[in-house]
Amino acid sequence: MTGTVVLATHNQGKVVELREILGDALGGVALEAYDGPEPVEDGDTYAANALIKARAAVAHTGLPALADDSGIAVDVLGGAPGIHSARYAGTRVDADNIALLLSRLEGVVERTAAFVCAAAFVTPDGTEHVVEAVWNGEVTTEPIGDGGHGYDPVFRPDDADRTSAELTREEKNALSHRAKAFRGIAPIVREYFGA
Ligand code: IMP
Repeated sequence: MTGTVVLATHNQGKVVELREILGDALGGVALEAYDGPEPVEDGDTYAANALIKARAAVAHTGLPALADDSGIAVDVLGGAPGIHSARYAGTRVDADNIALLLSRLEGVVERTAAFVCAAAFVTPDGTEHVVEAVWNGEVTTEPIGDGGHGYDPVFRPDDADRTSAELTREEKNALSHRAKAFRGIAPIVREYFGA
């Protein structure tokens, strides 16, 4: 059986990334980008915010929806910027967020951190699933590399010898928090569709 899942994001880059990550993992189920109203993300956790986005897409389209919420959690900062990662510096500009993070970590030796992603799947009958995954690493002392987005230039994963911004898309998609979360939720989507 085939079907369609709405991807609850307005970020075209994320749509492309998730199509790459999921590949054939959804069986014959098609991924469609969502263009309806964006909800207020006022949850206290990655999972709560992912569910808010997915529920809004289901309400608007009547179709099952996938959504995610993600961020970088720095241990010495008590998990900050966490769910506030995208607007950490107040501007939504990646370079500003990176500059603020590096200034908060000035002179700090203990720089362990993790990218975190919660992937949510919500169906029109109200069934809700969330899979959360982490990608452990450390924050560098300066930006390195010009690939990726967000905090990629200052995140060196434990399982790579370069920053996330120096990895190819294929390398990042093999290791990342988002890849692990979506590969974790893919079997649940397939089962829903009987695919
Ligand atoms: P979201 O799109 O609302 O989940 O916001 C996630 C924010 O966390 C992004 O704006 C980035 O700042 C950061 N982030 C999440 N995942 C990544 C990643 O894979 N690389 C770099 N930054 C990320």
